[in-house]
Amino acid sequence: MNRKCKRCGLKTVLSEEDIEKMKAEVRAMRGVRLVPDDEYVRRLGVCLSCEKLEYGSTCTLCGCVVQVRAMLRDGRCPYPGKSKWEME
Ligand code: SF4
Repeated sequence: MNRKCKRCGLKTVLSEEDIEKMKAEVRAMRGVRLVPDDEYVRRLGVCLSCEKLEYGSTCTLCGCVVQVRAMLRDGRCPYPGKSKWEME
């Protein structure tokens, strides 16, 4: 049984299929600006090694699905002090 997030109602553990469906929905939205593929891969790499990530997809600071948030040009990492996406 898969529990659901009390805040957003999403399943806590998303399958690859769930995530791909969400990404496709975002790509289909009009007016949404996306980052280039290389920036997406870089951001996602940061998230996947971050201690704030749970279930392989959820940022515990903002509750977002990082595979989706990392796509968005206006998406920001909410890490306190300084965005981990901006650190090098
Ligand atoms: S704090 Fe930033 S780097 Fe860490 S999981 Fe959340 S969005 Fe990703």
